This record gives sequence, structure tokens and C-alpha cells, in this order.
Amino acid sequence: MIDTVVVGAGAAGLAAALELRGRGLAVRVFDAGDRPGGVARTERIEGFLVERGPNSLQVKAPALELLRAHGLEAALVPASPASRLRFVWHDGRLEPVPMGPGAFVRTPLLSSRGKLRLLAEPFVRRGDGSAESVAQFMGRRLGSEAVERLVGPFLTGVYAGDERQLGAAAVFGPLVALERDHGSIVRGFAREALRRRGGRARGLSGIWSGPSGVGGFTAQIAAKLGDAVTTNARVVALAREGDGWRVEIDRNGPGPQRAGRVVVALPAAEAASLLRPVDADVAAALRAIAYAPVASVSVAVARDDVARAIEGFGFLIPRSAGLDVLGCLFMSQLFPGRAPAGFELLTCFLGGMRAPAAVDLPDDVLLGRVQADLARTLGLRGPARLLVATRWPRAIAQPARDHVARIARLRERVATHPGLALAGSYLDGVSLADSLACGARAAR
Ligand SMILES: Cc1cc2nc3c(=O)[nH]c(=O)nc-3n(C[C@H](O)[C@H](O)[C@H](O)COP(=O)(O)OP(=O)(O)OC[C@H]3O[C@@H](n4cnc5c(N)ncnc54)[C@H](O)[C@@H]3O)c2cc1C
Repeated sequence: MIDTVVVGAGAAGLAAALELRGRGLAVRVFDAGDRPGGVARTERIEGFLVERGPNSLQVKAPALELLRAHGLEAALVPASPASRLRFVWHDGRLEPVPMGPGAFVRTPLLSSRGKLRLLAEPFVRRGDGSAESVAQFMGRRLGSEAVERLVGPFLTGVYAGDERQLGAAAVFGPLVALERDHGSIVRGFAREALRRRGGRARGLSGIWSGPSGVGGFTAQIAAKLGDAVTTNARVVALAREGDGWRVEIDRNGPGPQRAGRVVVALPAAEAASLLRPVDADVAAALRAIAYAPVASVSVAVARDDVARAIEGFGFLIPRSAGLDVLGCLFMSQLFPGRAPAGFELLTCFLGGMRAPAAVDLPDDVLLGRVQADLARTLGLRGPARLLVATRWPRAIAQPARDHVARIARLRERVATHPGLALAGSYLDGVSLADSLACGARAAR
């Protein structure tokens, strides 16, 4: 009998397996796909190094600890320092997101009234953000203009989500806690910073990728696990057997496995299907977690065809602007070796909760929309050449207003099944680093 079977070799499953391995346990990982990494997919297409899923990652403290413990820090490369520069479409122009007090005073992204409202945050009466949407919480603390012009685009960038639906406690948990504990986000920040001064474990600052993309990074994690990872092996059934678990794998994979413990590191809907015979309530709770659909469209443009200088991380489009593209990343500006000389590699996102039907559009329609929006935003005069359009019908989990309570109940229920744990981006945070940390936590 194996100590632990991990179902799914995305970031969460790989992290769970690493953590278990680090504790000297025999672990096997089974994944339905033809390579480990889950949604992390990097491909070389026509001389461009294209990300079809996640484009980069932030390296937060818990994920960094795991990577360090397994000698994987060297599998990361930082983005160019210019990646700090980010833009939001406003009033027919791309405006830099202000990164300091001087820039804040000068930025046209907020009106004078909007800026004053934002500065009044320490004097706003304490509320209770625990069951509010992000729009309610942030609107109350910072004003509706900041929500529309800054918070909304930020949430589009991370969640492809809708600030009116996303839950404040799940998305901005630390900020909700600052209001609860200090009466204000700004006051709370200042007090906590003074209290901690250098004492807290920190991640790596900025954003990162692998030398050959995010897919290369997850491949390096998988390589640490060697032949413990089996791909093309879909787990089709899971059942309690004696004091362990029986794991059935489809006919491409090895035969049934017996394991003392199982970590189910799948997207919520897939986890629900697998766990329905084990616990219908767990399955129902998993099925209720919504995901935003996203179309990721990577295009090549000739640098000479772009009127505006392409620099920095990329840009985001507020809902009210009425463009099709949600945001665009300047991939060839972020990391070296992404595009041949004279070309830029841009990755544009369409769909999300704003326009979910966009993921069903054919390539030529997606490209037409990207072309039109790049002409408006970047002054693209020539053609955008489609490298690849990747459709993700369930790309990013959307934590709802009651997400934190729901996940706590889900975990309690799962804990009634000895040796069963869940991991994945729908639990504690949607980013790749969150998924790594979640996998390690599940393993522990
Ligand atoms: C388009 C897109 C862009 C993103 N951009 C970023 C970004 O820039 N930065 C960032 O930090 N995050 C980003 N994210 C989010 C982040 O990539 C994910 O949240 C994270 O990688 C999810 O990891 P996971 O292990 O939870 O799930 P997944 O990566 O979905 O892995 C689940 C695995 O389970 C396998 N599987 C499914 N069913 C079975 C079964 N029955 N048996 C066995 N295996 C099965 C699948 O093949 C898959 O490998 C993005 C996500 C998407 C989709």
C-alpha cells in the first residue's frame, strides 16, 4: 500500500507531493493530462515562447518556503524591473497606475473628488466586511470611483471577475481584518508595519517565471518527483477500503491503487465528480463554486507597427470602457527570449464574468476583437498575428461573499473522512503561489 496518492499534478498536487516526499512518505501522483503542471502550459510557437495559462507568479512566503526546502528557488527568474509599470485605460488613454504619493497627486485616473475620498479612508466609520462583496467593502472604505477605476480593473486582472460578486473576505481578507481590528485599512497598515518591523516571513518581491516559462517551472517541480508522477492516468473512482482508500484509474493508467491517504488536488467540479460517491454534501459544496471562463489570445505584433511605446507589465480595461479585451500583458517586455527581434509578444484576455460567451467565439472573431482593441489602446497600425487562442471554460475560481465560511464548512466535512484532504486554487486563493501553498498545507 502507498502512503499517499495525490490526484492531479497541477501546482497544488505537485506541492502536496513534494511536501509528503520531504517527510519521507511514499507518494504517487496521477494526472489525466499528458504532462504535469495543470493549467501551466508554455509552448514555443513560431519562435515565440507563449504562455497559454498563467503568465507569471508572485512568490509569497509559504510557497517560497516549500520551494527553498526542495532547492527549487533557482527554477525562478525575475521579471524585468519595468514590470512595476502598469496601465489602466481611462478617458481614451493608457494611464500609469500611480505607485507613489507624487504620482497619486498627478494621476488623472481619479478625479480630485475621488482622491479626497480615498484619502478620507482613515476617518470612515468602521463597518463589517465579512459578508460584503468587494464592491461594497471597497466602495465603503475608498469610494465608488476608486472601485470603478482601480479595484475593478485589478480584479479583472487577477480573477477575470466581477467586484459586485466576489467576496471581500476571501479576496481582500487582510484588508477586512485591518478594518475589523483597527477601524481603518490605512491606520491598520501603519500600526501593523510598526509592530512587525522586519519580523515577518516575506516572499520574493515582484513577479517571476521559469527560465523557459511557467510551464518550465512546474516541469522542474515535477522532475523532483521523478517517476512518482504518472500522466495520462485519469482517476475515475475513489472509495474507502479498510482503513485506507482504493483509487481506480482509467484503462490507460496502472491498475487500482491502495493508499492510506488521498489528496484530491483537482479543480472544484472535477473534485465534485470524484467525491460524489464518497460524500454527496462535499460534492454539492464543491459544485457550487463558480469559475470565470477566459480566452487567452497570444498575438505577435511588429514593433514598428505600434505607435505607443510598449513598456511595463501591460494594461487593464475598466468595465465601463466597453472594450472586448479585459487586459493585455506585454510578455516580451517582462521576460527575455519571448519574441524574435523586432516583434512583441502580447497576451490578451477576453471573456471573464464580464462577457463569458467570448470563450466560445471562433479564432477569427477573437483575433478581430483583439486587433480592434489594440488599435485603440496601443495605436497598432499593422496586423496582429494570431499565435494561439486558448479557451478555458473554467479558468479562475470566483470566491463568493460567503466563501470563507463555506470553505471552513467544507473542510470540516472533509475532515470526517480519515485520510482525505482537498487542495486547489478554489480553496485559499486563486494564484499559482496560493495553489502551491494550499497543496503543501493539505499534505501537512
Ligand atoms: C488562463 C489562466 C491564466 C492565469 N494566470 C495566472 C497568473 O498569471 N499568475 C498566477 O499566479 N495564477 C494564474 N492563474 C491561476 C493559476 O494558474 C491556477 O490557479 C493554478 O495553477 C491552479 O493549480 P491547481 O493545481 O489548483 O489546478 P490545475 O492546474 O487545474 O491542476 C489540476 C490537474 O488535475 C488534473 N485532473 C483533472 N481531473 C483529473 C482526474 N479525474 N484524475 C487525475 N487528474 C485529473 C488536470 O489534468 C490538471 O493537471 C491563471 C489561470 C488560468 C487558467
